[in-house]
Amino acid sequence: MTTNTKRHSLRTRILSALAIACASITSGTALAEELAVYAGKLFDSESGELVSNRTIHIVDGRVESVQAGFAKRDRQRLVDLRDYTVLPGLMDMHTHLVYEFGSRAYMETFTWNPADYTLRGVDSARRTLEAGFTTVRDLGDKDNVTISLRNAINAGTIVGPRIFTAGKSIATTGGHADPTNGHRHTLMGSPGPADGVVNGTDSARQAVRQRYKDGADLIKITATGGVLSVAKSGQNPQFMADELDAIVKTAKDYGFTVAVHAHGKEGMERAIRAGVDSIEHGTYMDTETMDLMRRHNTWYVPTMLAGEWVTEKSAVDGFFPEVVRTKAATIGPLIRDTFSEAYKRGVKVAFGTDSGVSPHGDNGREFVLMVGAGMSPADAIRSATWNAAQLLHMEDELGSISPGKHADIIAVKGNPLEDISELQRVQFVMKGGKVFKAAEADQ
Ligand SMILES: [Zn+2]
Repeated sequence: MTTNTKRHSLRTRILSALAIACASITSGTALAEELAVYAGKLFDSESGELVSNRTIHIVDGRVESVQAGFAKRDRQRLVDLRDYTVLPGLMDMHTHLVYEFGSRAYMETFTWNPADYTLRGVDSARRTLEAGFTTVRDLGDKDNVTISLRNAINAGTIVGPRIFTAGKSIATTGGHADPTNGHRHTLMGSPGPADGVVNGTDSARQAVRQRYKDGADLIKITATGGVLSVAKSGQNPQFMADELDAIVKTAKDYGFTVAVHAHGKEGMERAIRAGVDSIEHGTYMDTETMDLMRRHNTWYVPTMLAGEWVTEKSAVDGFFPEVVRTKAATIGPLIRDTFSEAYKRGVKVAFGTDSGVSPHGDNGREFVLMVGAGMSPADAIRSATWNAAQLLHMEDELGSISPGKHADIIAVKGNPLEDISELQRVQFVMKGGKVFKAAEADQ
């Protein structure tokens, strides 16, 4: 062994000893992070029942156990929510974090850069988390901004919910998510699969694979016309059965679920038959469609808040371009009745707001609309916890306060089973064992 090598190996030994020391300090701190949460009332999202006086033990960001009574261990830091109702973190299955609709929204396409969308996304993510939503799906963004947003939140750089994102939506030419709809001819160009426009089975497959390459978590397609696009029909079918089949089969190869924007019956039923996972909005579904959904185990994400919001704005002169206003005034008011019937008929419902149409942070208003349309408060809360986790295939990690799952926990002052609007006033938010909004008694 030469002197040089000896010196080198000594240096290596010192460095690795230092590394071990540092690692044990880091993991020591992490291991010491043990919490006890006292819950005056606790909503069990698996059974839909409210229980009293529980202690939730949390180790390293995950629930270790839930026990009856109040019992803090010496090494645990106490989070005292004895005056509150504690629930699992809420989950919104339909958001658009980089959009927020206003009268000038159509101008943004021409004036905003990716950085502008990113900064809005940072703000929306924080507001969404503070409203009690610890997990969201993002169903269509701009420039794949939400993929970077998700990564920054996961890295702890910025504050926001857990994001499962589709990246850019997939449409057909002139379809609801074609990014150059309504532009003048010289600006329309010819967007392709990477931009989210496909025609035929080959480009449909290519678009799904591109999203895998981009780092998306799931696939979003627009199977029928939509309200806010500058295009005539809000409900015509916009994908052929073979294109849907190509998308669903390719998505399965990559472990993606497929979320489907749909208002019209025909386009919706084609998508359900192709085996997609969720129908969003679903405005013109009838009892036949509902039964088809039950047979195919398809989830329904109603987004009544978007329906209400576009109806309201369609009455404001000049808010929407005329082609959009007509659709908004017709389609908006129908979603409530569709939801009512679908719920009665036993279609599986997962909570979604389409926030980004309405302002981010108002997501909780959807609960009030759901209960107003006939859903029980317990079922409404389960749609945003237990059901949403199943739709994401994340029921082992999210959706209830149970051993082994992420400690995503919120609290409200009153009893949301008696007054569902309590969920619009979330007082405490914890995500992964970290407190992002502290309750009064606990400050
Ligand atoms: Zn949407």
